[in-house]
Amino acid sequence: MIRRVNIRWRLTLWFAAAMTVMLVGRSFWIYYMMERRLAIIADAELTTKLDILNDVVNKSNNSADLKAALEHFADNQRDLQLEIIDSDHSVFFQSRSSAPATTKPLNQRLDTAHRRYETNTSPGGDQRRQVTGVVQSSIGPFTVGISRSMQAEQSEVWDFAMTLLATLPLGIVAAFGVGYIVSSWALTPVDKMISTANDITANRLDQRIDVPDTGDELSRLAQTLNKMIDRLNKSFEEMRRFTADAAHDLRTPVTALRTELEVSLMADKTIDDYRNSIQTALEESINLSRLTEQLLDLSREDHGMNPESQQAVRLDAVLQSVLEVLNSVALQKKITIDTRQIRPWTVTGDHVRLRRVFMNLLSNAIQYSSPGGQIWLEGTADSDTTTVVVADNGPGISAADLPHIFDRFRRVDQARNRQSGGTGLGLAICKSIVESHGGKISMESTFGQGSRVSVTLPSAKPAR
Ligand code: ADP
Repeated sequence: MIRRVNIRWRLTLWFAAAMTVMLVGRSFWIYYMMERRLAIIADAELTTKLDILNDVVNKSNNSADLKAALEHFADNQRDLQLEIIDSDHSVFFQSRSSAPATTKPLNQRLDTAHRRYETNTSPGGDQRRQVTGVVQSSIGPFTVGISRSMQAEQSEVWDFAMTLLATLPLGIVAAFGVGYIVSSWALTPVDKMISTANDITANRLDQRIDVPDTGDELSRLAQTLNKMIDRLNKSFEEMRRFTADAAHDLRTPVTALRTELEVSLMADKTIDDYRNSIQTALEESINLSRLTEQLLDLSREDHGMNPESQQAVRLDAVLQSVLEVLNSVALQKKITIDTRQIRPWTVTGDHVRLRRVFMNLLSNAIQYSSPGGQIWLEGTADSDTTTVVVADNGPGISAADLPHIFDRFRRVDQARNRQSGGTGLGLAICKSIVESHGGKISMESTFGQGSRVSVTLPSAKPAR
């Protein structure tokens, strides 16, 4: 039930409950403290009276003298009750009351400094504070009990406590009011954030939540939400750009294919013309299928990698199998590939995907290098990571293009690369694959001098 109540009411309820407990506790505490204070005052008075009585008893020489002195003392202290018990435990003197003595005899060998203070309830229900002590006289030791009624003070304290409790409902109502006002005040910025966040839809991601200048939890919450909206905005932008680029790049080969086929149907052509047209159409459809395959690859990588496809992969074997495929192209362009640095590196990953990474990187190095160029395969490994570098002395990439080189559909020389069949997706796919392996990929390049692409992957842990 309480879960359905909104946070403002929950805070108010908790505050009111805490205030109620505090107010009740405080009422009891005040009552207890006042009672104790009254007892202390009464004890001080009874002590003085006992001291005076001690003097009176000390000065008396015989039993008759003592009784007369006690009568005189009792007459002057009418609000006190006096009981004196002799060494035979029988009542020697009792003032006013005919009720049996309540004073319990003390061990009369105790010295006169030993005194007992207590609160007793008389048979009539009267609360009485009593001091009991030993006094010495010429006719022997006595136990003396002096008591006084606490009724008047007690009822005053009780009335006070009742007044405190009577104001309790008022206190609870006030606690509710204050709790509600304080929680409303504290939650107003949250309400504002909620309404701004509601306003920010996929179409208005340029809006931001106002960050309160307080540096507290709420301002951190606003900052966190804003960062989240930033990220959402960025990924929406990327998605829009990607879709637009993909549509554009799919349209180009499709249009070329269509034009080629339409032109070849228009007039009578020679067999050679038809052959040329079919050749061009075939090239365009190859481009098209490569592009769609790469788009599929990317969307698969975006879904993340299945952990079951992870295994120990020998990178040297992967590189060798890639080189077997690409060697003939390299030979045609008279490009030499230096493989002397390759070592038996083992990483954790998916063999097929890692092969695709190095196929893309080496194809790029061969494709973009001038004839007679050189490619080097290098690497380092420790127990945590293995890094393989594909370096070439090709055309390199300008400093302006380099930061975007792993973006999707990024081609350095748009016209030339499209003609050469490049889709601008190769490096983006490499990045997705490497990152889904928990690795990193980066490129260093000097325009006109060459490029170095480094791939860092988690090293395979040796089997125990
Ligand atoms: P593409 O399919 O067009 O090759 P990539 O994503 O693999 O797409 O590469 C993006 C761009 O980066 C390419 O168009 C090319 O201009 C540039 N590039 C990639 N590798 C190299 C390299 N080794 N040397 C020079 N330029 C490169």
